[in-house]
Amino acid sequence: MQRQVETDPSNGLLFPVNVESSLLFETPNQLYERVFRTLRPRTAMPAIRVEYRRFAGANSNIRLSGGEMVVRIADLLEGAPSPVAEALAFILVSKLFRRPVEPVYPHRYRMWLNRAEVRRQVHLVRQSRGRKQHDGPQGTVVHLEELFDELNVTHFDGLLARPAIGWSRRVSRTRLGHYDPSHNAIVLSRVLDGPHVPRLVVEYVMFHEMLHLRHPEQHRGSRRCVHTKEFKQAEKQFPNLPAALAALKRLLA
Ligand SMILES: [Zn+2]
Repeated sequence: MQRQVETDPSNGLLFPVNVESSLLFETPNQLYERVFRTLRPRTAMPAIRVEYRRFAGANSNIRLSGGEMVVRIADLLEGAPSPVAEALAFILVSKLFRRPVEPVYPHRYRMWLNRAEVRRQVHLVRQSRGRKQHDGPQGTVVHLEELFDELNVTHFDGLLARPAIGWSRRVSRTRLGHYDPSHNAIVLSRVLDGPHVPRLVVEYVMFHEMLHLRHPEQHRGSRRCVHTKEFKQAEKQFPNLPAALAALKRLLA
């Protein structure tokens, strides 16, 4: 049977048109059973439990526990179109059994996640359910709100509204800072807190996060661009950028 594939212009999803209609109305358990059979891992079909959970976001996870395949899906996805649920099932089951994921599935899944109304929903759920964890702006040397205000005047004409700002609880060496739009919060890693850290480094990381306020991320199709062209252009304006990057490299070495 030839499978006709059509792009529905209203949602841009690849939708198999003459797929048996039963597939579109299968229960979550039937879906995971079918995906398991398709991927044929070298193990007997486990019992399957699919639960929708009130997660603070769109994350889902899967694990084997006592011979049972337990799938926990963010309730945000409960109303997702069946091709999206199918894509997620292929992603999760492939990962669980270390099978390569066919690119069509992550692509389809991201397409959906990147739709404006879905992003809005994710944003709202994060905002209302998640808590931003940080230890406040006072560090051992640098007070992050004071630093923000200073950089705001020097580089942004004082035009940025100050978000919540704090030092991270965990000392991360890989995530030096981030801006979370759902909580409107900038968090800097504790690894940057201390008298041994050159001020230039802290300034640079804060400046980078402040640019996220000025240049919001962009979404096109299945792609999400956090550091846009404009963002990168603006980042180059940071005075003494090479010195800051070199000091940062030394600090993390
Ligand atoms: Zn960034």
